[in-house]
Amino acid sequence: MTAKPARKPLVAGNWKMHNNHFEAIALTQKLAFTLVDRDFVATDIAVLPPFTDLRSVQTLIEGDRLRLLWGAQDVSEHEDGAYTGDISARMLAKLGCQFVLAGHSERRQYHHEDDALINAKVKRILDRAMTPILCVGESLEVRRAGGYLELVQAQLDGGLDGLTAAQVAGMVVAYEPVWAIGTGEVATPEDAQEVCQAVRKRISAVHGDATATGTRILYGGSVKADNMPAIMAEPDIDGALVGGASLDPGEFVGICRYRNPRGASP
Ligand code: PEP
Repeated sequence: MTAKPARKPLVAGNWKMHNNHFEAIALTQKLAFTLVDRDFVATDIAVLPPFTDLRSVQTLIEGDRLRLLWGAQDVSEHEDGAYTGDISARMLAKLGCQFVLAGHSERRQYHHEDDALINAKVKRILDRAMTPILCVGESLEVRRAGGYLELVQAQLDGGLDGLTAAQVAGMVVAYEPVWAIGTGEVATPEDAQEVCQAVRKRISAVHGDATATGTRILYGGSVKADNMPAIMAEPDIDGALVGGASLDPGEFVGICRYRNPRGASP
């Protein structure tokens, strides 16, 4: 399965726990100054700020009619109720979020999120007509032991459990090997392609070819402007989930403009 053209590339910047709402406005403005219509025609470009920044980012993007998309980094598995500190999908939808991450490795590691919980979050996100970005990926130990394809498949099956083919077709899956996140160690394009292709094949096996052809599959892990072109040359990689480099507007724009490594708009 090598057809790529129908899938519009997506570059999403995961700001993690960086930037207060003033800093978020400044970073969004810098992106807005640099990115032009042609960039957005070629690629969907999203920012995923912390919860406390979302209203400011939404107001700026909507007020200035920017073409940036935005979303959140996590969501509660509950509809609403006595869950101190949690944020519901309904709240995020009201803030205009188009995307919500589910199952980022930092949530799996530091908050002990398992596939059943992540699946419940994916369903909440879909219930509110937002797009889940389901993150999957293996640790260094698993990579070295060789069971990474099986592990990623189990994470994928768990995260997508009970969804319809139409829901899966509209989703985004991000393959993020844990050993490449924030480490500066990027997977080779061939390594990334191997797993992204396996993800697409698994979706095809469960939901059919048409579904698998629709699902966007991103790579994430130390993506920078200079390694993005080779990653995007792989047939099953439809974009990038970007952590550290998304905090640097010049670098992030360079990633979005991967078709022209010198950084000019496409
Ligand atoms: C991430 O946090 O999703 C990520 C890919 O981080 P980084 O780009 O910093 O490796």
